[in-house]
Amino acid sequence: MQFEYESQPGRVVFGVDAVTNILGEIKRENLNKVLIITTRGRIAQAERVAELLGERCVGIYDNSVQHVPVEIVKSALLQVKKTNVDGIVAIGGGSSIGLAKAIALKTALPIIAIPTTYAGSEMTSIWGMTEGGRKITGIDPLVKAKVVIYDPKLTVNLPINITVTSALNAMAHCVAGLYAKNANPVTSLLAENGIEAFQKSLPKLIEDSMSMDARSEALYGTWLAGTVLGSVHMSLHHKLCHVIGGTCGLSHAETHSVMLPYVLSYNADHIPDAIKVLSHVFESNENDVSGALFDFSLSLGVPMSLEEIGMKKEEIEVVVNQISELSFYNPRPIEKQQIREMLKSAYQGIRPTV
Ligand code: NAD
Repeated sequence: MQFEYESQPGRVVFGVDAVTNILGEIKRENLNKVLIITTRGRIAQAERVAELLGERCVGIYDNSVQHVPVEIVKSALLQVKKTNVDGIVAIGGGSSIGLAKAIALKTALPIIAIPTTYAGSEMTSIWGMTEGGRKITGIDPLVKAKVVIYDPKLTVNLPINITVTSALNAMAHCVAGLYAKNANPVTSLLAENGIEAFQKSLPKLIEDSMSMDARSEALYGTWLAGTVLGSVHMSLHHKLCHVIGGTCGLSHAETHSVMLPYVLSYNADHIPDAIKVLSHVFESNENDVSGALFDFSLSLGVPMSLEEIGMKKEEIEVVVNQISELSFYNPRPIEKQQIREMLKSAYQGIRPTV
């Protein structure tokens, strides 16, 4: 056994109603003036947090949108400068946390993150912004949240379609984490536990989306998946979803959710240990793990094909060319014709086979 393991600093507070102690967490970090960052849709939750913070909250910036456009970053930075804050509280999904990260990158202000989706950005040092339609990303420890508050109560109103695709996106991080080049025994344990948490909780959430037990389990999986994403390198799945999302303008979570069984099928013969883990979790034959993942998604009622989520057939070739030009690690080499075949199947939503 040979590996490198680096634990990531950061405090995690998890539990139903955990957010009610936000003031205690702010005091613990010695913060006196914070600005809340959120999206318009999360304004009610942001106002509640502002109320809990009292005079330590100087305001709410609710202009966060998907993909963190630089224009929004500039306007938020103006607000930060004007209010002279010593910390940022981000409440919402990856869009709110993404904007907080962009602010931290420029100002080194600490972030207290309160995620309300399963995207997992709060656990990583990865930042992203878009300028003129082009996404720029990077890694910087400055953007990693100092404190993350996971409160399942904040997720009960997450619409079931976003719940499932967002969770499958997180599950995809765990699956890719199982066969990452720099995986280690700790990240593999986290990844397996994360997959199990979603495998158990999602069917329960389809039956009762307000179940606090199932919401807690899914959010626990989110924490694990975010930790995996922040600890190991992703490969084909992640790269491909970014190319597809960027080229075809598709939803981040839906793209990940559709592609999960297909990329697994592409890699399956090259990742025997990961296949063993997945066949155990999904109680499937080792030769049909990608099929079992496809059946799992199907049972959750999410879109199953790239066509359904808005890709155009002629875009397949654009994606094939773009992904072939990138250089990254993947357990199976990038074989252009096989990638094309995989994308054709994913476009039609055909159950994958190894
Ligand atoms: P998001 O923040 O845009 O949220 C998706 C939608 O869900 C929004 O309409 C939002 O208003 C709504 N919503 C959020 N919480 C809700 C709740 N509790 N109840 C009801 N509605 C709610 O997007 P996301 O899916 O959370 O995150 C995707 C973004 O995060 C992408 O831009 C992706 O690139 C980024 N991301 C970054 C990292 C990283 O490490 N940097 C990791 C994962 C994702």
